[in-house]
Amino acid sequence: MRPAAARRIARERRTLGIMIGRYCAGNHGPRAEPLCGDCEALWTYAQTRLDRCVFADEKPTCAICPVHCYEATMRERVRNVMRWAGPRMLLPHPILTLLHLRDEKRPLSAKAQAIRARRQQAANLISPPGPETPSAR
Ligand code: SF4
Ligand SMILES: [Zn+2]
Repeated sequence: MRPAAARRIARERRTLGIMIGRYCAGNHGPRAEPLCGDCEALWTYAQTRLDRCVFADEKPTCAICPVHCYEATMRERVRNVMRWAGPRMLLPHPILTLLHLRDEKRPLSAKAQAIRARRQQAANLISPPGPETPSAR
């Protein structure tokens, strides 16, 4: 993996770990361990997804990924974490937050764009156009 990509992915991993930690501390009460069972499971799951990401060097941030490889429950859970922890990241972690926001603005790779186009095509085939306007008689 190219060093720049490895740094970007390591940064995303770190950002996500901090966000899950803050979310857990803010929502699941104080505890001896850093994370509750549910958040630990989410963190382990998210790291596995990162390790197995199909995009490798060309990985977009998960938030803008056209694949969304998370299963539905975990996707919902990570979205809750992002919604809650995202606005609380800037003050304690300004540089990490700004770099993450910059990463989210990076253009999608050719592979990701092709996947997004294929998915949009498939979605258009599944949802037929709305009812035709009846012609005036
Ligand atoms: S959501 Fe997309 S970018 Fe994130 S790990 Fe899965 S495939 Fe990779
Ligand atoms: Zn928790």
